[in-house]
Amino acid sequence: MTEKALQFTQRDRMLTVQRDWCKGCNLCIGSCPAGILSLDDGERIVVEDIERCIFCGVCAARCPDFVFTLARIPEAQMAMGGSQCD
Ligand code: SF4
Ligand code: SF4
Repeated sequence: MTEKALQFTQRDRMLTVQRDWCKGCNLCIGSCPAGILSLDDGERIVVEDIERCIFCGVCAARCPDFVFTLARIPEAQMAMGGSQCD
């Protein structure tokens, strides 16, 4: 079954995590400056504590499978009350 992408926001940043695409290669885990990434029993990525994420985008840069996307939320969207996640 396809898992829905996770979306986390902080100020004007949004981090999207498409866990389905993770192949468990481990490349991103040691690169996260907050140390909040790990693999679950199914060898798929887990963001353990999003409160400690600094939205730096290193995970997005490291992952060869595009599991992570860091985007800036447009100002107009923020003025309407934040991000729209469907
Ligand atoms: S955005 Fe930075 S702090 Fe957050 S999970 Fe990715 S590498 Fe870690
Ligand atoms: S780099 Fe990408 S594919 Fe590899 S463990 Fe991290 S999220 Fe999964």
